[in-house]
Amino acid sequence: MSSPLLNSTAPLPIRFVIVGGGISGLSAAYTLCKAGHEVRVLEKAPGLGYPSSGIRVPPNMSKILKKWVGKEELDKLAVLNVASPCIDINSGVCIGVTPWEPTVMAETGGEFLMMKHEDVHRLVYRLAISAGAEVNFGVSVANVSPGSPTPCVTLSSGETIDTDVVIGADGRSSIVRPVVCDFEDNEDPCPTGTTVYSGVVAAEQLKGDPKLEHFIKSDEWAIGFGTGMTICCFPVSAKSELAFALFLPDECADPSLSQSETPESWYNSVPTSSIQPEGLALYLRRLMLKAPTLCRSQWLQRDQAEEWVDESGRIVLLGEAAHPFPPGTTYATAAGLEDAVVLGTLFSHLSSTNQITTLLNAYQEIRETRCRILAHTDTSNASLMMLPPGPARDARDRILSAPKNEWDEDSATRKEFDGLAELFGYEAEDAAMQWWVDWGRYIHDRSPTRTVSASPSLSVEKLSLSSPEC
Ligand SMILES: Cc1cc2nc3c(=O)[nH]c(=O)nc-3n(C[C@H](O)[C@H](O)[C@H](O)COP(=O)(O)OP(=O)(O)OC[C@H]3O[C@@H](n4cnc5c(N)ncnc54)[C@H](O)[C@@H]3O)c2cc1C
Repeated sequence: MSSPLLNSTAPLPIRFVIVGGGISGLSAAYTLCKAGHEVRVLEKAPGLGYPSSGIRVPPNMSKILKKWVGKEELDKLAVLNVASPCIDINSGVCIGVTPWEPTVMAETGGEFLMMKHEDVHRLVYRLAISAGAEVNFGVSVANVSPGSPTPCVTLSSGETIDTDVVIGADGRSSIVRPVVCDFEDNEDPCPTGTTVYSGVVAAEQLKGDPKLEHFIKSDEWAIGFGTGMTICCFPVSAKSELAFALFLPDECADPSLSQSETPESWYNSVPTSSIQPEGLALYLRRLMLKAPTLCRSQWLQRDQAEEWVDESGRIVLLGEAAHPFPPGTTYATAAGLEDAVVLGTLFSHLSSTNQITTLLNAYQEIRETRCRILAHTDTSNASLMMLPPGPARDARDRILSAPKNEWDEDSATRKEFDGLAELFGYEAEDAAMQWWVDWGRYIHDRSPTRTVSASPSLSVEKLSLSSPEC
């Protein structure tokens, strides 16, 4: 595998410890290794290959993966998404179709793909290892503490690890987040009333069932709309499996099933027989029952962290630890990859330890608004799909059922796409490079303080910079 991502390595290599070897943590391990740094990833799971379902890979993410592994490699695993039929979950009737015309998607610089979570996880693992990262599985981090200046990681075994920077990439129930953020940011998350069940069904199991076979044969991300529930399904792993995510009211969960993990964890595996979704069309119920097991993840409302960098300026949050998303929605994984690209690009310029805090603050500034928009989009879309009968639902269905095959300048389809194009067209590496050109190259070796923001709106004096070069 080759990557033209970073052309330069940092004049000053430093040590990073990443807590969490999910897709975000491993992607950051890759970009930081490519930037010349020493990276160690600590992952509590014993290895790769945990049961998972599918993820949508919108163009803003697929263009990153394509740069990293090339189109040929990506095509072996991914399925191109050409449309989203919107189906009434009770009757099975199609309300309308949203096209993801590949030629139009190309305007955003990428393709809209569908992939299995595990395939992407393995891919970024291989990249991280090949770039030189050390990945330790079965290692649970118990605590992270700031130092003066270097932080320390304590493992559940009691062992401690000193490093230059700690990255908390440990997901929605992050243990690093409380170290970085104020108390208010860490109040118990509120239940939204929805639990997500995801799973995969092998393509052979769908043979002979024309309604279900259609899902694997089509190149579509099908979405079912219901009252208080929604389901989406799409082919993954070069169409060898069908992935689905079913959003149901919390009450459908079997309370007698114990869980060893937190309710929002991706490691809670439950039998398919443990849920009885009322009102789900029979063929969708058939689909669900074919999955060997389901992953149950409760959707708890968590806000984006206000601070991503701790007081000491050496501990930082990344991926869902910084900006949680509803489970099973579209942009969570894409946002983690974008974070990794921005962080790696910024740290490819590191030439003094005194720049570390400024670069970490810059990373937050580049990323926070973007991630807020992505999480808001996912949250609103999920809510829209589960609307009860009423005027809001009627309005939604009117929009969905309008014909969408006209792509001229003034058509409704084109206008809708233009809104999405901003999300899909984002170039993470450009965003970081822009910051570097505007501000970063003026940073000299003098130590920045915690209050120093990397915001372009601040004056050069506030950045405590001297003698700009240009
Ligand atoms: C096993 C698994 C399966 C998933 N399957 C799907 C799916 O099918 N569809 C979907 O849309 N999303 C899925 N997700 C979520 C998806 O990966 C994320 O939404 C997105 O990729 C952002 O990932 P992240 O790396 O920020 O967080 P996560 O994916 O949550 O990764 C966090 C990682 O940190 C590790 N970790 C947590 N605490 C510690 C600790 N104390 N010490 C060491 N390690 C720790 C976790 O084991 C995990 O590997 C899954 C996540 C996991 C972990």
